[in-house]
Parts: sequence; structure tokens; C-alpha cells
Amino acid sequence: MNNQTFVDKERQYGANNYKPLPVVLTRGEGIWAWDTEGKKYLDMLAGYSAVNQGHCHPRIVAAAQAQINRLTLTSRAFHNDQLGPFAEKLALLTGFDRVLPMNTGAEAVESALKIARKWGEKVKGIAKDRCKIITCANNFHGRTIGIISFSTVEQYRDGFGPLTPGFVGVPHGDIQAMAQAIDADTCALLVEPIQGEGGVIIPPDGYLRQLRQLADDNNILLIFDEIQVGLGRTGKMFAFEHENVRPDVLILAKALSGGICPISVVLAGEEVMGVLNPGDHGSTFGGNPLACAVACAALDVLIEEKLPENAAVVGAYFVEKLRQIKSPAIKEIRARGLMIGVEINPEYGNGRIYCDRLLEKGLLCKETHISTIRFTPPLIITKEEIDWALEQIVSVF
Ligand SMILES: *Cc1c(COP(=O)(O)O)cnc(C)c1O
Repeated sequence: MNNQTFVDKERQYGANNYKPLPVVLTRGEGIWAWDTEGKKYLDMLAGYSAVNQGHCHPRIVAAAQAQINRLTLTSRAFHNDQLGPFAEKLALLTGFDRVLPMNTGAEAVESALKIARKWGEKVKGIAKDRCKIITCANNFHGRTIGIISFSTVEQYRDGFGPLTPGFVGVPHGDIQAMAQAIDADTCALLVEPIQGEGGVIIPPDGYLRQLRQLADDNNILLIFDEIQVGLGRTGKMFAFEHENVRPDVLILAKALSGGICPISVVLAGEEVMGVLNPGDHGSTFGGNPLACAVACAALDVLIEEKLPENAAVVGAYFVEKLRQIKSPAIKEIRARGLMIGVEINPEYGNGRIYCDRLLEKGLLCKETHISTIRFTPPLIITKEEIDWALEQIVSVF
């Protein structure tokens, strides 16, 4: 069957909630992916940063295969021999006391919000049902009803009401606005250290440190959603390391499994995670041995192959070369590590047009917010491979 057959089947039988580029992928290896007709592409999206380690990384695949033949799901009604070692590895890597395993990113965000509210009521002493969580404009934290309730993208909310109360929005990167929004009922600040879906939006230097100070001064939890920017993407293992601060609650997902299966986590200190008691929260697949074994291997690969370091070096090289492209179509380039956003000048068309042309040239890219093209290849990419990608990008621009 050719590409079109698969496209047609999706169109006929699938829900129409995506508008994919016209390519049907069937195989992936490292930074490369192949379509059903044998054409090879460099994957510049990497599953929205879920595939930081590259497609089908042999070491992660081997861990998955070994575990899939042994035990895949126990539920949390019983212990399994993978969750404990995984939690230990992640706690030691991040410096947090406790790990709550979930599956998707949105679930982990929801879990963090529940923990923050419960901490607000039971530890901080906010009155019942009064907890407020401050969020940033232009955020992306997932698609549940709770989360879209504080999205500022009209389409994400439209038609899905009634929405959930208890959230206050302020502009991202504006510490004054954040300070003014805080009151006695505020239990948490939920922030992406760099906004990914929002278009690779990097806040002013010092913003994360100022958030930390605000949270400390007001006895509020600082929650960082590093689902997209964490795990090496920005040239450090975690984006918050760029400002030497630590959140009270950290949310990870995407690259935690290297793209092999869904796994997400909420990390926090004992005094915060301690609000959860048996029965308060849970997930059938959360902490399953297959995902835990995969995540252990995925973390080992990030660390041992020094992928954050490579992201810093190769990312800087990539951006330097991108900035040399003289094209009136490029309005701005925003980047940290291998998290790169190229903003298209609207007079020269939208991001989608450029993604279609890049696809013809063999680059898989996806626009975000109409006008920004994101270049977020797997972190294993080399300078030579970047050079090839640049040739294609230059020819399009
Ligand atoms: C992708 C993403 C999510 C949602 O993750 P899902 O697995 O799609 O639910 C949440 N926050 C950020 C920052 C993301 O990039």
C-alpha cells in the first residue's frame, strides 16, 4: 500500500482532531525516519521532544524487549521489581525525595495540580475549595478539562465548558504581574521554564530565580512543567539549571521513555508529596514495570551518551548557522540548546507552507502557533547531520 492509502484510511475512520503533514512513516532509526514508499527523512520534531534519544535506540529497545517478555503490568495493587529501582534512579538524578509515576504528560500535570491543592489546604491551611493556582498566558500543559481551563488558546477551550475554576492567568515572563496575582489563597505557580508549544518562548534572564524568590516569600509551591524542555533538550538535563534554581514540584514525561511508551512523573519533596495517602490518587498503568524498565534505560542513555552536553554544542552550532541565513522570511530565531524556534515573517506565508517545503526536502518539521517552525531534532544529532539539514533549510528559505 502506498502513502495515500494510509492517509485515506485515517481520514475515513479517525477522529479529525489533527491535520498531519502528508507523510506516512513506517520505520525509524536514530534521527532518521522512512515513509512507506522508502523515502528517508531527518526528524526535526522528534515526537515533540519525546524522542530525544533517537528513534528505536537499541539500548532502550533491548530493555523494552527484555521486560515485555517478563512482566508488563501488575497494577499498583502489588509491588513490582522495576518501579522501586526506577524511582530511586530518578530521585537520585533530580534530587527530589519522591516520585509519582503516571502515563501521559497531561496526567502528570493534573496530578501535580491535585498535590498542590491538597498541600494548600492541608499544609498551608487555605480554606476548603479556595486554593488558587497561578498559570502563564500562552501556556501548554495538556488537554484535560482541568488543564484547558487555564489555556489561553480560545480553540482549546471553545465548546468544552463548563471549565474548572481556581486558576489565575498572568503573562509569561512578567514577574511583576505574577507578584500582583498572588494572594493568601495562592497555593502554587505553574510555569514552563521555556514555552514549547507556545513557540519556544524564553522568559527574561532571572525570571526563574525571581519566581523562586516569590514562592519562598509567600509560602507557595513552584511547579515547573519540564515535559518538553527537560531531559537534555535545552543543553542541560533540566531547563531550570540554566538559572541555578530548583522548583518544589517537577513534571517530566515525553523523553522519559525515549518515545517507546507513555510514562510521566511528578517529583517533589517529602513534605509536598507526603499529602498523598493510599487511595488519594492512582493510575492502572502508572508505574508499570515495562514503562519503568524502559525509562531506566532511557535515562541511562541521556546520561552516558552525554546528550544534554551534545544538545548544547550542536545546538549552538545549528543556531549560529541559522542566523547566517539571509532571508526576509525569517523574522526571529529563539533558541536554547536544541530547542529552536524560527519565527516566520507573516508577509512571507505561514509556518505550514515552509513545513510542506521542508518535507519535500526530507526534513520532518511542524509549525506551532501558525508562524513558528520548531527545530527540535533528537539530541544524538551530529554537526555533519546538521550541515545536511542546513543545506535543505537554506534551499527552502
Ligand atoms: C506535551 C506537553 C504536555 C502534555 O503531554 P501529553 O503527554 O501530550 O499529555 C504538557 N506540558 C508540556 C510542556 C508539553 O510539552
